[in-house]
Amino acid sequence: NSIWANIKMGPPDPILGINEAFKKDSHPLKVNLGVGAFRDDNGKPKVLDCVRKAEKIISEKNLDKEYIPIVGLPQFNSEALKLAYGENSSALKEDRVAVTQTLSGTGALRIGGAFIERFLGKDTTVYVPGPTWGNHISVFKDCGLQPKEYRYYDKKTNGLDIAGLLEDLSSAKPGSVALLHGCAHNPTGVDPTFEQWKQILEVCKKNSIIPFFDVAYQGFASGDTNFDAQSLRLFVDSGVSIMLSQSFAKNMGLYGERVGTFSVVCASSEEKDRVLSQFKILIRPIYSSPPVNGARIAAEVLSNPELNKLWLTEVKGMADRIISMRSLLRKHLEEDCKSSLSWKHITDQIGMFCFTGISPEAVDRLKDEFHIYLTRNGRISMAGITTKNVRYVAESFHEVTK
Ligand code: PMP
Repeated sequence: NSIWANIKMGPPDPILGINEAFKKDSHPLKVNLGVGAFRDDNGKPKVLDCVRKAEKIISEKNLDKEYIPIVGLPQFNSEALKLAYGENSSALKEDRVAVTQTLSGTGALRIGGAFIERFLGKDTTVYVPGPTWGNHISVFKDCGLQPKEYRYYDKKTNGLDIAGLLEDLSSAKPGSVALLHGCAHNPTGVDPTFEQWKQILEVCKKNSIIPFFDVAYQGFASGDTNFDAQSLRLFVDSGVSIMLSQSFAKNMGLYGERVGTFSVVCASSEEKDRVLSQFKILIRPIYSSPPVNGARIAAEVLSNPELNKLWLTEVKGMADRIISMRSLLRKHLEEDCKSSLSWKHITDQIGMFCFTGISPEAVDRLKDEFHIYLTRNGRISMAGITTKNVRYVAESFHEVTK
């Protein structure tokens, strides 16, 4: 009798389940709108030219494979911080940002969760937007914290419920953490305007809420890395102490390399040293030190002026493809299919994902009758749409929403 005999079969991951079903479908017109990774206009994964060039430069250096420090590659960390906070950030100039390299954004959230649990306490409520990327809830729960939703998405307008958001954060217990998607909110594609970010900042300050920014799409959302960082920089420049999870999965296409950072903006350089010492104590018993390869690639792309220029062009190219697919999809629905519904939210929303407003029943019909795959909450990955399938997708959406 095995000691594991009583372990129950866990439910499959909803998104990975979609990929499985898609693979099994042999229909020639099938479309996968569940994927959370960029695809080119032929539906193929993309490795950026700047990344290939960086890999070549690195390989020619014949570097060793020694362990890197517990908190990661110093050059990568400093370049990553400059990208997020800005070259002229006073927090960086004053050397008061504690940073560690992490296993992409998920790893950053997990180290962040462990840091919160240890230094703010187990009872800390972490407010997350309703809805949010599903893994946020799992990560914080597994860190022993209490995630709770603040109002975010307004089903009636397919936009932001700013009044509900401000109300929930102003009635939250002081000392709670609020997870904020810095740009390109996943899964809704709905971001606050800059004016609304100022309101959110005021509520956080007034009610002593600690902002935890998740920036997984810097540059990938608007095509401009500075524009996509403006929410984060607004908070940091106002002097509040924030935490940040940063990922290079999407904007550098380094998904499987697992490259990211977790950082905490401190009040002084001396405080930063103490926080950093605790990062090391947290990380050492989990994985000792992070992998070196992806961080070398990102450091090369960020620090080599020629590669950096190329990267900014390529990241804008990815954003532009997504933005143009939004316009095309909306145009086909409204002008060619003559849908009586409004599809304005498709172009109002930003980033990889779009909350279509399509009902779960209609999602099932899309799969069964049209071989189009998406999550039952009506979220589509814009990266799955191409100039070749956009008309078919629009016609199918129209059929199930008539
Ligand atoms: N946060 C958000 C909002 C995301 O959408 C993602 C990726 N789907 C992540 C974090 C983390 O991704 P990764 O661990 O691949 O960087």
